[in-house]
Amino acid sequence: MPSFRAPRGTRDLLPAERSAFARLESIASDLATRYGYRAIETPLFEQSAVFERGIGEVTDVVEKELFRVAPRTEEAETWALRPEATAGIVRAYLQHGMHVLPPPVKLHLSGPMFRYDRPQAGRYRQFWQWDVEAIGDGGPAIDAEIVELGARFYREAGLPDVEILLNSIGDPVCRPAYIDTLRAHFQSAADRLPPTERQRLASNPLRLLDSKDPAMADLIATAPRLVDHLCGPCDEHFASVRRHLDGLGVGYRVEPALVRGLDYYTRTAFEFYRRGAEGQQQALGGGGRYDGLVELLGGRPTPGMGFALGLDRVVLALEALGASGAQEPASLVVVVGADPAATLERLRIATLLRADGLHARADLAVRKLGRQLESASRDGAHFAVIVGDELATGDVQLRDLAAGTQRPIPVVDLARELKRAAASHHHGAAGRG
Ligand code: AMP
Repeated sequence: MPSFRAPRGTRDLLPAERSAFARLESIASDLATRYGYRAIETPLFEQSAVFERGIGEVTDVVEKELFRVAPRTEEAETWALRPEATAGIVRAYLQHGMHVLPPPVKLHLSGPMFRYDRPQAGRYRQFWQWDVEAIGDGGPAIDAEIVELGARFYREAGLPDVEILLNSIGDPVCRPAYIDTLRAHFQSAADRLPPTERQRLASNPLRLLDSKDPAMADLIATAPRLVDHLCGPCDEHFASVRRHLDGLGVGYRVEPALVRGLDYYTRTAFEFYRRGAEGQQQALGGGGRYDGLVELLGGRPTPGMGFALGLDRVVLALEALGASGAQEPASLVVVVGADPAATLERLRIATLLRADGLHARADLAVRKLGRQLESASRDGAHFAVIVGDELATGDVQLRDLAAGTQRPIPVVDLARELKRAAASHHHGAAGRG
């Protein structure tokens, strides 16, 4: 017999974990509504070129981690599974002419992303993100709004210890000169660079600042800082983002080594970490400004700003705190029967209650009444409806499982009575608590 497993780097979200994700998705979608971001869906795969241009060909995400989809021979296009949401959203923005809408166009999306990463704890080949984008506003106020929104998400999710690392990575005016200075700095120690870093020195020296190789730590610490080389407008933008965050009471730490090493990423860059977890490649989320991206995908020059928060790592962090909120709600009521074989009557009454909006389960096991009642209590149900001989005259017994009391009630009154009792049960519970 073959034994099948989920592909390496993927995992099944079993019901408890799926409900922890659902809770995060619902917090995200509620926040998006409050902040005026509208939901969008894009395909799970796009033409590869959308990512090659939209993320950049000299990034790990595209060079090493893109899940390419082998085309059927008659298809001319090549596709890839989406490794992130921004490129696809900007493609949709352009395709549907959203540039005629009043800016900024505020969109959000949550769903699975795919990267051919080396799997490890908190790093998967299929993972979930909540993505927020504001297209058409150059900031700096929108930058602060988005950073604050991300921080609020973690608080509402139940992670109080999330820190914001903030930086400005300049723009095509000031960055080239800085990159020359940076290249000279690393060039002076070229013989000490690990091989991959030596390659990056030629192709993309900014990426060296991002290196997690311990051999690089000293060189990174002494490297010239981009924040000291910003042009006037970028410097003013960064100061204003900080002023807006200060004015909102949002705490952050300026982290000069935080970079996104591509030309169309501009100015604001930020990441979220749990306190003490920086540098462990365990960012909870991150984002920034991408004023060059819309143009790169074929539109007119249009600023953009957004973030992507990884939901898997939030669920893991909440589980570590014992607070994933993954409780399955118990049924309010279980329909049980004196005649073990009379499953149709139990199912029929449960169906009536469900049609009325109640959270009801029928015990469909052919077993004695006592066993059915035990199981209902064990499941945490508040009430049992006991179906017996009185059904002939339209009645059942309604049993309060906690109080151990029961009384006859006409089936036609059951839903109304259960709703009333559930409400007072809740108030009673709250009153006691
Ligand atoms: P990035 O676009 O790489 O900045 O990713 C944004 C967020 O998505 C990260 O901060 C992580 O929380 C999450 N993330 C990225 N890659 C993975 C992965 N392979 N597995 C799980 N989460 C990931």
